[in-house]
Amino acid sequence: MTPAPLVDRFARAITYLRLSVTDRCDLRCTYCMPERMTFLPRAEVLSLEELYQVSRHFIARGVTKLRLTGGEPLVRRDMMDLVQALGRHIGQDENGRGLKELTLTTNGTRLAEFADGLRAAGVRRINVSLDTLDRDRFASLARRDSLPQVLEGLQAAGEAGLKVKINAVALKGINEGELPDLIAWAHGQGHDVTLIEVMPLGEIEEDRFDHYLPLDVVRRDLEQRWTLTANGETTGGPARYVDIAETGGRLGFITPLTGNFCAGCNRVRVTATGQLYMCLGGEGRVDLRAALRSDDPDGQIADAFARAMGEKQERHSFAIDRTGAAPAVSRHMSTTGG
Ligand code: SAM
Ligand code: SF4
Repeated sequence: MTPAPLVDRFARAITYLRLSVTDRCDLRCTYCMPERMTFLPRAEVLSLEELYQVSRHFIARGVTKLRLTGGEPLVRRDMMDLVQALGRHIGQDENGRGLKELTLTTNGTRLAEFADGLRAAGVRRINVSLDTLDRDRFASLARRDSLPQVLEGLQAAGEAGLKVKINAVALKGINEGELPDLIAWAHGQGHDVTLIEVMPLGEIEEDRFDHYLPLDVVRRDLEQRWTLTANGETTGGPARYVDIAETGGRLGFITPLTGNFCAGCNRVRVTATGQLYMCLGGEGRVDLRAALRSDDPDGQIADAFARAMGEKQERHSFAIDRTGAAPAVSRHMSTTGG
């Protein structure tokens, strides 16, 4: 018998899993983590086989889209083995279960090495995070001088036939003035772009309020310059899209702070330690690692999934509304998986 699909108590079908394969990263973006980030002890992180088993359970329960993330997914040594194993689940099995899409979010520093392998394993589209094209600004924002590698990675992705979406966090006083150039450049390269509001996740060394830039401000500025037409299409995610006549490209806005997008939520996240978080903006979680390592993994995972579906919250309640406010949740984005 085909196991039942995952549906939460608000009748939302969960078809999208974001799986963090590591919390480690080769960059230190200032809005994401402190320079001296404390990473998880390796023993706590799921093995490759465990990451695969978690994914397999989700696919059996109706997940059709799987995004690998982190931390930086491409710094995990055995990452491509996982991508290959998951790639074999693209298409439908005898129960009608399988992935429609296997994808990843990466900072792009190691894409040049892995783009061909990703494509060969069945990946077709990837998200690459890039907040600036200015080398000095990149070096100060990411605390590493890695822009040349990222641009090389983007080139390799294009040559490998991977469709790229650029994700950029909009930051007041940092990349604010550069956003039109970044968008025009990306559209010129054939990449879609999505802008993201900075979210209050985890302690960092600065106050995020100082650089919080509401996207309605950015949108108004872009409207002075270009013709933006709302594009009704959604990709099942939180972004709202416009087409830009002058650049011929598509631009998405992810507005967790100025526009709540939770009603159509179809996703859950699993950390590299096997904690299933039902919401990026909440503390609710169930422990899949304990279930996997129990005497009855199948039964325990089914129980854990049932608990998760019963507890998934209706909406998050982020706010960056005052200087010095504590993060909405203590986990960094790199822990939960962006
Ligand atoms: N390292 C990979 C990367 O940067 O693409 C994947 C993980 S990263 C946590 C995923 C996304 O989260 C990136 O686009 C990053 O810009 C974004 N991000 C990190 N911290 C954030 C925060 N506090 N608010 C909003 N976006 C954040
Ligand atoms: Fe690393 Fe991505 Fe966080 Fe930047 S945003 S520090 S690349 S995990």
